[in-house]
Amino acid sequence: MNRPSQSNYTREAIKGIASTTLQTNLRSFQERLGQGAMRMWVELADPEKRRRVKASRMRTLDHLDIILASLAEKVRARGGRVYFAETAQDASDYILAVARKNQVKRVVKGKSMTSIEIGVDPVLEAAGIEVVETDLGEYIVQLAGEPPSHIIAPCIHLDRRQIGRLFADQLGIDYSEDPPTLTRAARHALREKLLSAEMGLTGCNLACAETGQISLVSNEGNIRMATTMPPVHVAVMGMERVVATMAEHRETLQLLTRGAVLQKISTYVSFVGGPADTPGETREFHLVIVDNGRSKILADPEFREVLACIRCGACLNICPVYGKIGGHAYASAYCGPIGAVVSPLLEGINKHADLCKGETLCGACKEVCPVENDLPRMLSALRHKLAYGSDQWDTRQMNPAEAFAFRLWRHLVTRPALYRAGLRLAALLQRPFIGKNRMISRMVGPAAGWTDSRDLPPIARQSFAARWRQKHPPTPDVAKKTAENSGEEKV
Ligand code: SF4
Repeated sequence: MNRPSQSNYTREAIKGIASTTLQTNLRSFQERLGQGAMRMWVELADPEKRRRVKASRMRTLDHLDIILASLAEKVRARGGRVYFAETAQDASDYILAVARKNQVKRVVKGKSMTSIEIGVDPVLEAAGIEVVETDLGEYIVQLAGEPPSHIIAPCIHLDRRQIGRLFADQLGIDYSEDPPTLTRAARHALREKLLSAEMGLTGCNLACAETGQISLVSNEGNIRMATTMPPVHVAVMGMERVVATMAEHRETLQLLTRGAVLQKISTYVSFVGGPADTPGETREFHLVIVDNGRSKILADPEFREVLACIRCGACLNICPVYGKIGGHAYASAYCGPIGAVVSPLLEGINKHADLCKGETLCGACKEVCPVENDLPRMLSALRHKLAYGSDQWDTRQMNPAEAFAFRLWRHLVTRPALYRAGLRLAALLQRPFIGKNRMISRMVGPAAGWTDSRDLPPIARQSFAARWRQKHPPTPDVAKKTAENSGEEKV
């Protein structure tokens, strides 16, 4: 799987914008699911549910150590094994060790973003183990040698003709672009793999500390097979994907499937509570709980909230930036607004600077999020770290000249007389750049980027404030107050 590097953000974004397939697919997906989710929250019979779930998510984060200890105890009591992995490497090494111990030659996977985050597939493949995705979308991108481009619709960037050609090449079937025919071909190929795999590797939508069960949702039934057919099942979860009680689990799951695909409940909900009890067969269940930078996020009150995310993907379905550039530009396991916050925090703010700077801060992601995660606030906080640097987050200041320019700007806009003088000076300096159409088509130096793809209107001869004063002369009281504030005698 070739994941684009962060330095390719602009290139991948341009590629996404140029792809008519991606644009068509994303438009209809966002219209249906994004707008649909917005409507659904307004019409929700119990409007307090979102707030309750958010509160329970935050409460769980406040007591995460105790709740995880309780989960581990319950899973072990049910015959499962629990491993706490500090890093991605640590988690992958553990999974590889389990595979080796069980002489695994083939692993069948259920959809898991955490497994992509920790990069376990290449580790298993390097050890000679075949890894097969069984979620249809994930299987398609695996055959294409590409990373997924959406959290819940991994092959949204491909159309059925491309998939038809891919299946003809890779599965040796006759070319077809008929979805049922293609689905049948995938099912046939995957059934073979599921029957012969020695290990199933899945994610975990939620784990319940009260019962020691993990739950997995799907609409294809593949997860149920991947968790029960092979003798060994390994589930990998980010350490925040736990809920304290079954009551909280029920409500959180209801919001997850609604946010993801507007469903009250998904077609399959599998509860895994330890190794299956099969007479005459030894079966194993392992739960790998991954930290990989989450403790650091948890310790920072500014970003802790992002761990309340239940990975439904709704924010992708409403985001105007994701809706144009698609998922590959994000160059990480998580894309869209949630990826723009969580990837810099997990992998480095400087490394993923483009992600947090690329979003518009329009606020739609917060509105559509089932747990009302304030992603725009956290994006601004990340930008602040990039603008001023942060020892805590090991972030170096990206552009000291820009920070200086904004300090100058603040100085200017908080002093009205100086600001007006600055405007007059800028109006003079802009003259050589104003074209015949009365627009500025080309700026120079650091401002050049502003006119790369659009013209700018010049600074007006008369400012809005001056026009307003002309039309609505201030009363003597207001004039006096304004003069005092601005240090002027007369406004
Ligand atoms: S931030 Fe909210 S909308 Fe986005 S994936 Fe997480 S829970 Fe879903």
